[in-house]
Amino acid sequence: MTKITPQPGILEIDLYQGGASHIEGVSNVVKLSSNENPFGPSEAAKDAFRKAGFDLHRYPSTDHRALREAIGEVHGLDPARVICGAGSDEIIAFLCQAYAGPGNEVIHTEHGFAMYRIGALANGATPVEVRERERVTDVDAILAACTDATRLVFIANPNNPTGTMIGEGELTRLADGLPDHVLLVIDGAYAEYVEGYDGGARLVESRENVMMTRTFSKLYGLGGLRVGWGYGPQHVIDVLNRIRGPFNLGQPALVTAEAAVRDTAWAEKCRNDNTRLRAWLAEALAGHGVPSDTSMANFILARFSSREEAEACDEYLKSEGLIVRRVHGYKLPNCLRITVGDEPSCRRVAHAVGQFMGDE
Ligand SMILES: *Cc1c(COP(=O)(O)O)cnc(C)c1O
Repeated sequence: MTKITPQPGILEIDLYQGGASHIEGVSNVVKLSSNENPFGPSEAAKDAFRKAGFDLHRYPSTDHRALREAIGEVHGLDPARVICGAGSDEIIAFLCQAYAGPGNEVIHTEHGFAMYRIGALANGATPVEVRERERVTDVDAILAACTDATRLVFIANPNNPTGTMIGEGELTRLADGLPDHVLLVIDGAYAEYVEGYDGGARLVESRENVMMTRTFSKLYGLGGLRVGWGYGPQHVIDVLNRIRGPFNLGQPALVTAEAAVRDTAWAEKCRNDNTRLRAWLAEALAGHGVPSDTSMANFILARFSSREEAEACDEYLKSEGLIVRRVHGYKLPNCLRITVGDEPSCRRVAHAVGQFMGDE
């Protein structure tokens, strides 16, 4: 028995399960398990990445100024209050490290994203799970769960894996109702998919207790690059910058993300395609007796009548070369999360689910 032991909480962390990408013995496989953009990044982003390959001997920028200014311009935000990280996962980790330790509580919702619990445990804090109302964030339940020990409240809006979101009025009520010592973190990993939604930016601007996180991994198609960012009150950004490593993002990542955020035409095309195909897929699945909540993101949470049926459908889809995501780890054992792919992929999924349900 070794006497070398990690900090309390760390051994309670279950390893994050990424979406599968291969099926033994099946070709023409479509991966719909990680909410990736089926069209990939914009041409401008790919060009920037290729060019960055000639300067790999140079250390990257430490203050990410060019990327922060591009984000500021495109989203109408103050670049001084933007912080960039290796995926928004790193921003979530910074927040937990900075604000939550032993004796503190970190609130996340029942079907909330796994990194909130991991971030809390990694820093010795206690994750507190709050129930949702029919797979939707419940503001009253969150407010009721706050204690003197609460430091952070994480909600993803839209949420993964439910795809549901709450409106600006509810977000405001949550921010207003929290005790003074609690920071609200609105995770906007899917905010770009929602027409007219700012991800919580206005709320950040008007308060000292709200932070927003965003990512280049979903709509911008750069999950393999690892770039995310946060927008918050100056006092929070100053704290996070103290624990951020000076070279946390490589230069290829910085310049590629900058080109990506400036290519608003590509972002709009991807948003529009997703909206159209998502509606088509949801309707097709419902027609086969598989309902889903109205999703605001780039995936659908397909609901089956039992865990057995969901898993049998998953096996059938796999045999047809379609990889989707089981979500029992998110307390949704009777559901499968299906990323909205390109049109042929959506048609294949709908057809295969129809066959599984005995309709085709
Ligand atoms: C995908 C996802 C993220 C993390 O994205 P990064 O790749 O780390 O930027 C964060 N939050 C939610 C809810 C997600 O689904």
